[in-house]
Amino acid sequence: MSKYIFITGGVVSSLGKGITASSIGKLLEAKGLKVTLIKCDPYINVDPGTMNPYQHGEVYVTDDGAETDLDLGHYERFTHAKLTKDNNITTGKIYYSVISKERRGDYLGKTVQIIPHITNEIKNSIKKVAFAQRVDVVIVEIGGTVGDIEGLPFLEAIRQLRLEMGKDYAINIHVTLVPFIKSAGEIKTKPTQHSVGTLRNIGIIPDAIICRTEKILTKEAKDKIGLFCNVDREAVIPAIDVKSIYEVPLNLQKEGLDRLILRLLNIKREDKDLVDWQNRVLKRIKHPLKEVQIAVVGKYITLQDAYKSIYEALVHGAIDNNARLVIKKVDSEDIEKNGVSKYLKDIQGVLIPGGFGLRGIEGKVRACEFARRNQVPFLGICLGMQTAAIEFARNVCGLKGANSTEFNKNTKHPVIGLLEEQKEVKLKGATMRLGAYECRLRKDSKAYQAYKKEKISERHRHRYEFNNDYRREFEKKGIEFSGINPQTGLVEILELKNHPWFLACQFHPEFKSKPDSAHPLFASFIKASLACPKK
Ligand code: GLN
Repeated sequence: MSKYIFITGGVVSSLGKGITASSIGKLLEAKGLKVTLIKCDPYINVDPGTMNPYQHGEVYVTDDGAETDLDLGHYERFTHAKLTKDNNITTGKIYYSVISKERRGDYLGKTVQIIPHITNEIKNSIKKVAFAQRVDVVIVEIGGTVGDIEGLPFLEAIRQLRLEMGKDYAINIHVTLVPFIKSAGEIKTKPTQHSVGTLRNIGIIPDAIICRTEKILTKEAKDKIGLFCNVDREAVIPAIDVKSIYEVPLNLQKEGLDRLILRLLNIKREDKDLVDWQNRVLKRIKHPLKEVQIAVVGKYITLQDAYKSIYEALVHGAIDNNARLVIKKVDSEDIEKNGVSKYLKDIQGVLIPGGFGLRGIEGKVRACEFARRNQVPFLGICLGMQTAAIEFARNVCGLKGANSTEFNKNTKHPVIGLLEEQKEVKLKGATMRLGAYECRLRKDSKAYQAYKKEKISERHRHRYEFNNDYRREFEKKGIEFSGINPQTGLVEILELKNHPWFLACQFHPEFKSKPDSAHPLFASFIKASLACPKK
């Protein structure tokens, strides 16, 4: 039977609960345990697929094609858990399911209520994952902050689960903020006390408290939190701010969190450390041998979370090359206003991430042109591949006004067009070409050099594709179509022949990159960028 760790958060949002959950997963895996992680999101959307990045940040895509919360990205980067659509539970999904059952008559004349019907649905969704993925420990992170109205059914569900399973099988960990008040020169434990108080009102008593803090937690502060929050003093775990998120597992281990969890859950394991992680990830982050400057040209540049997996995958590529990464975030609309060279003249690599809609497109096209003409390494992802194709069509093939039908329905040269299967689609949620699809690589390509194999599988999220009517023309002018979906002939990768490294893909490689095993395309892109002379 699987054991459960429930993680809640208090005081403020953005405390890094996702990183904490992932780090706990990492620490338990180091002990030889098999884990999975679940994110519960209390919002009413069925999934984040239809939300604006400014509302939600990146939409993370799993192999099975679920559009999920970006915390699942952290879970996959830190652990070996294979996540599916069931690993992200939302209020929307829960109600959808309960209401469908009600319409089918499954509740046999009963009044359908939040307790027990919604809470039972939540409990069953959590247990279903544990059962299907056959793991030792399930880590369940409850999104939002304790005290949010929306989160109450989830908290009630985990309260009941803990009661049903008993303390050896389920524990609660609460993550809070212990702020440092400058004028008083002190850290303050009161917000944590209030937060735990609110939890206790709901009937949840934390077994451990993880305190996010910018200053070292004094013994007095720990004692105070332990006393007022009713937890053992060694269960008050400080989590001090760190430069790299990949340090968090090691810090939590130093504070004894892994041993504490095993003791609470009554699991006996040897004490193992994270030597590999230390050597392959942290040493390289802390002592890089060189530096590389990459520009990310997008339209959600001001929001750190919008391109989360892209930024992380670039970090992994840099780790793989023993380099320090400097990211220059460029708003493609600024390129439209002020010209391209102002922003890109001193960088060593250009990355254009995915995106939707017309805004900022022409700036991206100009960034593609800059990288192509100036022999600057280029990685285009999804929309980034589509803009690279548009630029090449216009400026090399001489197809004036070439465009994607996403941006101009009546373009004379639709080099990017709607996927055939999308033509009948009317609904917006979960209707794109989503998830893992196979791709075959040509052996004489940069893509093959990176992957070192012919058959690959990558994750997708798009409605448009390269229009194969233009393939010949592109090939004649120097494009190699190096990756193709064998079932449909869809272009998955295109690259430029006479260029040090110009590669663009329809899929999202960033979702499969990890700090200790960088995605091959990111590792190769950074390698090529390091070889690009600094201007
Ligand atoms: N908007 C483009 C499409 O739907 C690109 C999508 C993306 O970049 N994820 O095909």
